[in-house]
Amino acid sequence: MRYDALVVGGSFAGLSAAMQLARARKKVCVVDAGAPRNRFTAQSHGFFGQDGVPPLQMIAQARAKVLAYPSVTFVEGSAVAAKADGAGGFTVSLQGRDAPLSADRLLLAFGVQDGLPDIDGVRERWGTSVLHCPYCHGYEFSDRRLGVLFAAPMPPDHALLIAEWGPTTLFLNGNADAVDGETRQKLQSRGVTIEPGRVVGLEGSAPDLAGVRIDDGRLLPIDALYVAPQPRMGSPLAEQLGCAIDDGPFGPMVRTDAFKATTVPGVYAAGDIAMPFQNATRASSDGVLAGVAVHRSLVFGA
Ligand SMILES: Cc1cc2nc3c(=O)[nH]c(=O)nc-3n(C[C@H](O)[C@H](O)[C@H](O)COP(=O)(O)OP(=O)(O)OC[C@H]3O[C@@H](n4cnc5c(N)ncnc54)[C@H](O)[C@@H]3O)c2cc1C
Repeated sequence: MRYDALVVGGSFAGLSAAMQLARARKKVCVVDAGAPRNRFTAQSHGFFGQDGVPPLQMIAQARAKVLAYPSVTFVEGSAVAAKADGAGGFTVSLQGRDAPLSADRLLLAFGVQDGLPDIDGVRERWGTSVLHCPYCHGYEFSDRRLGVLFAAPMPPDHALLIAEWGPTTLFLNGNADAVDGETRQKLQSRGVTIEPGRVVGLEGSAPDLAGVRIDDGRLLPIDALYVAPQPRMGSPLAEQLGCAIDDGPFGPMVRTDAFKATTVPGVYAAGDIAMPFQNATRASSDGVLAGVAVHRSLVFGA
């Protein structure tokens, strides 16, 4: 079977795109490996009408709605290779499956995965008490003791933002020169404590956090620590296909035009891999735009 569109990634962006294509009565196949970026957190926040719902539940509900359309196929698995088929479409091979899938259009929505600071205790608290986005999880730690782990390129004055939610300590982690005089003054006048020492580990009963251990032996009590993860593409498919990839403000981004077309004709991209300032709402909206664009390209040409 040759599909009209093949969507790689069945989460916020991919399922939102597939919904538009399904409602346009196109034959769509969604391939998904089942590891969305926010799977580490118990509750997703801020999504229209779904505040506080577990992310895997949100995705399962969305998948069921999309699969209610008869022209949609869902394949659980991982796409490992994609190439143009020489007839205007694409073939995609899946891990452990002999026959490749083929489609006229390819929509990449495979998300990013986060590289975390190499500090003892970070990994097991990620998404619970080690956080990256105050708009996603800051409210739950209102007025608690907050920390910000400095790491370039995040500017140290990021701590000013976090201080909106509670008393904040900026952990310079040995980078004493990272804060100039003016920034130091701003931080201090906002009540941010600056801790210059190197962080050696997080302590407490994980996934909760009790404190941050400094290399001189002190344990500073903290309830939540904000870190800057290093996002990387969830799959090499965009590179394989020859899509241009740019350095975004928070990591690599597949280059797309205003209608989510990549630099390779017939290939579209949506969600965290194709936009800065990522969250689930924005990924879903990006997917809607991409789904409509893919449909229009099937009608009017790529
Ligand atoms: C800890 C944490 C908490 C967060 N909390 C919130 C929150 O509260 N509110 C909010 O709005 N946002 C939150 N976010 C951000 C949110 O997770 C992302 O913006 C959103 O998941 C992006 O959606 P996406 O569809 O682009 O990618 P994802 O949701 O990451 O989905 C990508 C999908 O593609 C699949 N995939 C990857 N490679 C392949 C492949 N080769 N073949 C097949 N499938 C593949 C993956 O398995 C995954 O299912 C959080 C992020 C993190 C890290």
